[in-house]
Amino acid sequence: MLVEENFDVTRLTSFKCGGKIKKVFFPESLDEFVQILKETPEAKVFGNLTNTLVSSDGYSGAIILTTKMTNFHFSGYRAEAECGLKGAKLSQAAEEKGLSGLEFMIAFPGTIGGEVFMNAGAHGQNVAGCLVEAKCYNPDLGVITLNKEEMKFSYRTSVCQSKNLIVLSAVFELQPAPSEDIKAKMEENLHFRKTHQPSLTLPNCGSVFRNPEGNSSGRLLEQSGVKGYASGGARVWENHANFIINNGGTSSDILNVIQKMRNSVREKFNIELKPEVRFLGDNIKEVEICRDLKII
Ligand SMILES: Cc1cc2nc3c(=O)[nH]c(=O)nc-3n(C[C@H](O)[C@H](O)[C@H](O)COP(=O)(O)OP(=O)(O)OC[C@H]3O[C@@H](n4cnc5c(N)ncnc54)[C@H](O)[C@@H]3O)c2cc1C
Repeated sequence: MLVEENFDVTRLTSFKCGGKIKKVFFPESLDEFVQILKETPEAKVFGNLTNTLVSSDGYSGAIILTTKMTNFHFSGYRAEAECGLKGAKLSQAAEEKGLSGLEFMIAFPGTIGGEVFMNAGAHGQNVAGCLVEAKCYNPDLGVITLNKEEMKFSYRTSVCQSKNLIVLSAVFELQPAPSEDIKAKMEENLHFRKTHQPSLTLPNCGSVFRNPEGNSSGRLLEQSGVKGYASGGARVWENHANFIINNGGTSSDILNVIQKMRNSVREKFNIELKPEVRFLGDNIKEVEICRDLKII
């Protein structure tokens, strides 16, 4: 198994921001993964780092990146995938099998583990809509299988967040459908992305804030006048106010922009936006800001 020390993860993150991590494990099988989780319980687990802001000062602990665990298979109308597989890859494979249900994942840059953890969703579909069960690990319970009800999914959250559960693999129930219908839905989703969201050539982490109930963060941010706000190399995207583009900025730049966005909406609407993005780092000042933002 590959283990890196003082490893700079900047280029692996979708924000293209980060620093050196003291130890990074890259397990290649679920057995190796569980072994590391048992031996190094303090290690934090990440997937493709597309929803994570890594401190430019790095992190003095250990992390596990799941991206080398990418096995998947189909059995009847079900798809089972290891946590490190990219959602887009599973979506594509389902389309080739004539199975519908994962079209929303076609443009997702994250892994199955990250997507289950946060009940990722788009275009009216989400993980909760098709997940049957997930194999998870927690130091007290060991390896357990949770069904959909036990996963306690709701908007951008699952039981994994409150109970410190690591996702090992997940099973999805799909429905047979004509390939051209599945492809058409995927094309529609990809077109929407191209026209409404920044591509990864502009380093970003997807939507910065969750939508408050019955409201749209993008609209609240737009009406709060945050477009054009910048700090160092980080700025609110000119085309949609719920995205931050990072053009060589540091984690502090990005956090400044997130705070400014949150504060502007708070002042104008008295609504507290909650970020989707997570934080990894141990710079004390940044940790304080992240506690205030509730992203650690
Ligand atoms: C261009 C772009 C578009 C995006 N579009 C969408 C979208 O439409 N909808 C949407 O919901 N999200 C979207 N995202 C956000 C992101 O892709 C998702 O949140 C995805 O689920 C994150 O997966 P990841 O593997 O990159 O997670 P990471 O960034 O690596 O981790 C994010 C969180 O998940 C946890 N985690 C990761 N793997 C595991 C695991 N195996 N077990 C337990 N916890 C784990 C980490 O601890 C961390 O807290 C987008 C991001 C980008 C950059």
